This record gives sequence, C-alpha cells and structure tokens, in this order.
Amino acid sequence: LAQLFRPLDFLGMVYREIRQGLIDMEAMFGLVDTQAEVVDAPDARPLAVAGGAVRFENVEFAYDPERPILKGVDLEIPAGATLAVVGPSGAGKSTLARLLFRFYEVTGGRITIDGQDIRRVTQGSLRRAIGIVPQDTVLFNDTIGYNIGYGRDGATQEEIEAAARGAAIHDFIMSLPEGYRTRVGERGLKLSGGEKQRVAIARTLLKNPPLLILDEATSALDSRTEADIQTTLEAVSERRTTIVIAHRLSTVVHADEIAVLEAGRVVERGTHAELLAADGLYAEMWARQLFERDQAMEEA
Ligand code: ATP
Repeated sequence: LAQLFRPLDFLGMVYREIRQGLIDMEAMFGLVDTQAEVVDAPDARPLAVAGGAVRFENVEFAYDPERPILKGVDLEIPAGATLAVVGPSGAGKSTLARLLFRFYEVTGGRITIDGQDIRRVTQGSLRRAIGIVPQDTVLFNDTIGYNIGYGRDGATQEEIEAAARGAAIHDFIMSLPEGYRTRVGERGLKLSGGEKQRVAIARTLLKNPPLLILDEATSALDSRTEADIQTTLEAVSERRTTIVIAHRLSTVVHADEIAVLEAGRVVERGTHAELLAADGLYAEMWARQLFERDQAMEEA
C-alpha cells in the first residue's frame, strides 16, 4: 500500500514546495490578490541545474500593455555569483525577480538558467530551484519549529536545528521557555523583523536551492542586527547564484556585480569601485545614502 501512495506523497511535497514559493512571493511582493496565469508548455521538461547561471536577454515586460516597465534588460549572473540590483523606487527591480520566478511571462526577450529558457521548463522544477528570502516573512500560527520545517517537507528536528544554526537563530530559540515548540505568529510570540528574516533564511537553508533571490528590508534594522544578518546572508549566498534587491550599503559593496536599474533599463553595471569611479547615478545614490546615514547617526 505504501508503494501505491508514494507518488501521491511526492505530489504533495511538490505542491507544498510550490505553495511555499508562492507564499514567499506574495510576502515579497504583496501579490496576495494576484493569480499566477502562467501555465506549463505541453512539452515542458524539468529544469536541469548545472551551476545555476542566469541570463536576462533583452527582456521586455509590461503589466499593462500601455505602460512598459522593462525595456530591454540584459543581465548575466555567472553560476554562484551575486548580483545586487539597485535603483530608484519603481525602476523595476522586484519585477526582475518576479519574472525569474515566472510569476509573469516576459513580453520580449528571454530568461535562461544554464541555457534553458524558463518558458520551456516545468514551473514546479523552476520554483523548487529558487529560494526566496522576502522582506517580511509570513509566519503560520504554529510553533517556530514548524515555521522553519515548512522549508522542506519531512525535515527532521536535527535538520531544522541545523538550519536554525545556519541562520543564527538557534540560540534565540533555545532561550525561549518552550524552545522549538514556542508558538509564533499572530496569536503567539511576535518576532522582530530581524528574527522573522532569520526564520526565512532557515527555511531557505532547508530547501537548499541553487538559486536565491533576496529582497532586503528597507525598514531600518539597528546596525548590529544589520551586520549580523549580512554575515548570515553572505554565508547562505555562497556557492548559490544570488540576486539581491539591495537597499543596504553593506550588501552592494560585497556583491560581485551591481546593476543600476532606472526606468526599466540597466544604466550602469560594475563593481562598487568601478561604479564610484564612473561617477554616475550609482555614485550619486551612494553619496546620498552616506549622507543620510551620517545624519541619522548625528541625530541618534
Ligand atoms: P521599489 O524599490 O519601490 O520596490 P521596484 O524597482 O522594485 O521599486 P517594481 O516593484 O518592479 O519596482 O515596479 C515597477 C513598476 O511596475 C512600478 O511603476 C509599479 O507601479 C508597477 N507595478 C508593479 N506591480 C504591478 C502590478 N501588479 N500591476 C501593475 N503595475 C505594477
């Protein structure tokens, strides 16, 4: 009988993983009311990830045909590298991540992972390959252990604890009176923004995806928490192809490459040092952030 049910178990697992991906996506982009419209091509195959190299080739996109959002974006993230995307609000940064997850279909150009057009692979396999750490994680009204274990069906307590250690939240959990059985969420213990982000990181560690999308919190974390989370995220993104929608100075400095997006176009690309030397939009944004940080420190 167990033999008979195994395929169903597997489907259940796939379903949960896709659902989790969608929940993360909703949390990341406020897409709660949006239905995914994208369907698998009849001959879709599972994505075969070799190293996880991502390419955006002349990508165009519009939510509304009257209003183009991405106007021919070319980006290339070598396997295992980290790309930080920066730019003014509304430039299309989150849209890039939504398209990679295939929440929407590109209207021009294409996106490939290890040479495979993402329109030609099954959505299940695509979404299993991508981990998302959203700005604001949705917690279930359940224990903190359950909330972490949701990253992978059938995770053992040992695996959950290992993930929590990797996300540097194990010690905090152990300091709670009920440890991993502590209830969190609306009706339980309220976690801080930084703690919730660590739960999301732990989930992602359990999922162990080759590709990662990080949406950094815009809301100010205190500088100690920010530095701690930064260290954790750097460890998590090591050996994974990572796209960071970056708001923090510390992240962009460490990225392998930075792409500056403005009004749906990549207007500058390079390392932090190269972009400072170019003295363009990035240098201007950087100077402004430094100024704002110094002012905040003076006020504190
Ligand atoms: P921010 O830094 O403020 O998050 P962003 O660069 O990530 O901005 P996007 O969220 O990608 O910007 O949005 C790009 C543009 O697309 C914006 O003008 C936004 O209003 C529009 N947009 C985003 N989502 C939708 C949607 N579901 N339907 C229609 N337009 C949308």
